[in-house]
Amino acid sequence: MRLLIFFLFIGNYAFAAADSVAIDGKAFTKHIQILASDAFEGRKPFTEGEKKTVAYLKAEFQKAGLQPGNGKSYFQDVPMVNIASTPAGPLVLKGKTGTVSLANLTDFVATSPHVQNQVKLNDSELVFVGYGIVAPEYNWNDYAGLDVKGKTVVVMVNDPGMIDSTLFKGNIMTYYGRWTYKYEEAARQGAAGVLIVHESKAASYGWSVIRSSFSKSKMHLQTADNNKSRAVLEGWITQDAAKNLFKLAGVSPELFREAGVRGFKPVKLGVTTSLVIDNQITKSTSQNVLALLPGTTRRNEYIIYTSHWDHLGKSEAIKGDSIYNGASDNASGTAALLEMAEVFAKLKKKPARSILFLAVTAEEQGLLGSEYYATHPVFPLDKTVANINMDAFIPLGRTKDVVLVGKGQSDLEDYAAAIASRQGRTIRGDFNPSAGSYFRSDHFNFAKVGVPALYLKTGVNSVKNGEAWGKAQLEDHNLNRYHAPSDEYSSSWDLSGIIEDMNLLFAVGYQLSNESTFPGWKTGSEFKAIREKGVGKK
Ligand SMILES: [Zn+2]
Repeated sequence: MRLLIFFLFIGNYAFAAADSVAIDGKAFTKHIQILASDAFEGRKPFTEGEKKTVAYLKAEFQKAGLQPGNGKSYFQDVPMVNIASTPAGPLVLKGKTGTVSLANLTDFVATSPHVQNQVKLNDSELVFVGYGIVAPEYNWNDYAGLDVKGKTVVVMVNDPGMIDSTLFKGNIMTYYGRWTYKYEEAARQGAAGVLIVHESKAASYGWSVIRSSFSKSKMHLQTADNNKSRAVLEGWITQDAAKNLFKLAGVSPELFREAGVRGFKPVKLGVTTSLVIDNQITKSTSQNVLALLPGTTRRNEYIIYTSHWDHLGKSEAIKGDSIYNGASDNASGTAALLEMAEVFAKLKKKPARSILFLAVTAEEQGLLGSEYYATHPVFPLDKTVANINMDAFIPLGRTKDVVLVGKGQSDLEDYAAAIASRQGRTIRGDFNPSAGSYFRSDHFNFAKVGVPALYLKTGVNSVKNGEAWGKAQLEDHNLNRYHAPSDEYSSSWDLSGIIEDMNLLFAVGYQLSNESTFPGWKTGSEFKAIREKGVGKK
């Protein structure tokens, strides 16, 4: 009965419960305007902007009649540590035939996540481990038979599918391709250092992006082991630096290609390196804001909507403006979270399952607030049915399409596709599947602990102006407003497309909230095995 549409009544409005609700465009717009106003200073953690933002979210959740999401509190403390790392000199590579000296920021970048004022890498041996991947489901292990304790691994970004479409997911980047994975696996293997070889196409961004992100300090979660289980040194080297390293080691640059061929064996380079890194450390606590709508008959099962409330704060002025308002990123998603909470709270027929509305901190610092929740969940993960994430809507007006980021990952996509089709829209995959967008927002931390997670982006096939126009608008946004002070709210914004996306995401959550099913991960998903270890199987 997939065409069955049933009706609910809210106030005076009748509407199809599954496909559209009375989203209040005015209230939604007001939330965006307030959150993206200069008064909120770009909503950076540990600033006045954070205080205003979290107070506003709490007040609005309360006004909507939702319960505190964390015991008696609407807040979850997220202890963080800010580390500014400075390498004490060049990265000197010592081989049998000579040395190569790499200059900081020009040839290499390096930080240490260890919460320690000074860390040292001493005569650490370099090993080229290809893509540095251990993926049982693809029968791939670059570390097989290798002991890298105390060593520094030299590793390529992306995964072998990028050059051979029969391997992994072809040109769709798996999590094994992300730089964060390279660090994590190297640490699991006991490596003291990780150097990722940069390549613009494989990384999907140029060296300048890496250089600028490593010129700033980095925030991490505070951990009981002060991050000592991670490698001492985490960094990148340029393609040219890697070639010089290979020359010094007397190995062929053909190794880069061979690393993508099944049967590749890691290569000890006969080169060592040492580096001292000075860390400037400050600790602080930020906050996730969370509110609960308890379910009626299945109240111990949860659907979690997420949006990150934070943005970049005040920084380098561009055209005289130093406030990074983040209207699209992510005042839009946070406003949608509030509006969605208000709509759910007003439903006459309350959802059977509980719904948690979670506004997370420090997404822009590396998805930290959502990582904290996923590793310190308030509600059991094995009773968490799904995560639905909203990050950076773009006001292009109504579109005939909607983008499913990471298409092919979970059963939640089938829910979204069916609802989109009833809206007369089609779903499509990422525009650039090799960029790994599925691993770049908060839902990913739920995926990592096995909870199926859905992430949609605005489509481009504009109802009014066609697809070429929509693509040009999106490019213009990415080039001129993404992470810039010009990401500001304007009264010329056409919110109709975003409201349609919100209707879709409401309908997915509403449907799930009245079912007893636990949607899973699709075959081939790198998160399937984690969920099936017992999560959600009740
Ligand atoms: Zn952002």
